[in-house]
Amino acid sequence: MKTKYISKKDQNRLEEFFSARSAKIESEPEHWITNSNEGASYCYDCCKKKIAQLKKENPHGDYEIDGGWVSEVEATPFCETCGILLDSSLTDYGARVELKNFIECGFDPVSDYDCRALLDIINACGWEPWEEKIYRNEHEKERDLKYFDDLHNLCRSILERIDDKT
Ligand SMILES: [Zn+2]
Repeated sequence: MKTKYISKKDQNRLEEFFSARSAKIESEPEHWITNSNEGASYCYDCCKKKIAQLKKENPHGDYEIDGGWVSEVEATPFCETCGILLDSSLTDYGARVELKNFIECGFDPVSDYDCRALLDIINACGWEPWEEKIYRNEHEKERDLKYFDDLHNLCRSILERIDDKT
């Protein structure tokens, strides 16, 4: 049975609700270090400091700061040193993983971080399956439809909780 999606009006309401809370979270552009094989992300200041430290340990190392733009990620990055949220855009896979996380562990509408994460999820895949999308197989189609069912069911429960409070 097909899940009924929440209305456009409710989608807009939720996006405004999530945006207002997301705006309270500080974030920085994502940076990383070339020629260091640790694969960590940093804010600009921490990246500079880390490079200085690496150069001390290995004066011949060719470490450069890289990044500074919004890249597509499978998981939301945080600065390895200070923990600040780094700007990013989720891949479809990343959106699925993060949504699953909320379904399993719960969503807290009072948490600015949860609101920001759900907004990132919505920005990645939208509210509805893309009509023209061609699926490679039945499994992929089911997974996609299940994703949107889960999204709308979660958002419906969030709307009920927001309405209780107002
Ligand atoms: Zn930092």
